[in-house]
Amino acid sequence: MHLARFPRLFLAHLPTPLEPLTRLSKELGGPEIWIKRDDCTGMSTGGNKTRKLEFLMAEAEAMGADIVMTQGATQSNHGRQTAAFASKLGMKCHILLEDRTGYKDSNYNDNGNVLLDHLHGATTEKFPGGHDMPGEMERAAEEARAGGQKVYVIPGGGSNPTGALGYVNCALELVQQANERGLVIDHLVHATGSSGTQAGLVVGLKAINANIPLLGFGTRAPQPKQEQMVYDLAVKTAEKLGCAGIVQREDVRADTSYVGEGYGLPRPDTIEAIRMFAELEGILLDPVYSGKGAAGLIDYCRKGHFKKGERVVFLHTGGSVALFGYDAHLNQPTMAEAAE
Ligand SMILES: *Cc1c(COP(=O)(O)O)cnc(C)c1O
Repeated sequence: MHLARFPRLFLAHLPTPLEPLTRLSKELGGPEIWIKRDDCTGMSTGGNKTRKLEFLMAEAEAMGADIVMTQGATQSNHGRQTAAFASKLGMKCHILLEDRTGYKDSNYNDNGNVLLDHLHGATTEKFPGGHDMPGEMERAAEEARAGGQKVYVIPGGGSNPTGALGYVNCALELVQQANERGLVIDHLVHATGSSGTQAGLVVGLKAINANIPLLGFGTRAPQPKQEQMVYDLAVKTAEKLGCAGIVQREDVRADTSYVGEGYGLPRPDTIEAIRMFAELEGILLDPVYSGKGAAGLIDYCRKGHFKKGERVVFLHTGGSVALFGYDAHLNQPTMAEAAE
């Protein structure tokens, strides 16, 4: 496996920091919790899509694309980061947004990621929940091609074997950082959605035989579907890298018990996790992904699934821009006020 063989733009701020979460660890009284700061990757504030887009947008540039198209939920971080890459490369960007929550307030619909999509000069188009978004995107791409434009289409979340290469690289980066400081990682956890992050990590960890258990906390699909999606993409990613066969089905583990009513709908434990990280560590999570991942992490610590003395790394996948679309859920009493 040799990642340098694949076209890549070097725009991410790497390596991202690996830091101890001392106060959160103390509060939970269980394992030593560390955080891998992939919320700090750069490109319109950063997040996990930056690593994927380094590889995806290099392909777009190589084919001479003049417009890039992608799709996601209204508050898609992937859309915002794709728009930022397109600006940097002088390409147009068109984003198809699906209403997966039904929220009608103006902050959800126009603030946060949507505001930044437009600031980066992208055009957006909205569709109701359940719409055939990949089909819609193909239609839009065909129309643009018929008009003489060179279109590069990126699937939702940037999750295909090209995008997943970014997280193969992250696995190598993380293990090297841990080796350099003598940190034995007993568990690696993160929020999983369209699956490219986890698929890339699985492949990277297997390729170097790191033997670090990886767990994705789901944000949308039920467990069998989530694990199957990650596994299928991991298999294809390994093939692309020339190491077919290294991923086994049991390497892919997702726990989807923290999703709640659906994608983009925060639960009380999502909000609690956001508050704990913000008030104890000065770190911003988000209500769609990292807040649900952190809710899983916190619950696993409380239930003793992660034991005292073990070292757990939480990969922070970003998303804090969406906080500004969810003020209605977040303007509630602080932890300290609630305790009074
Ligand atoms: C997209 C996203 C995820 C999920 O990553 P996938 O590769 O889609 O599974 C997690 N956190 C944030 C903040 C995201 O934007």
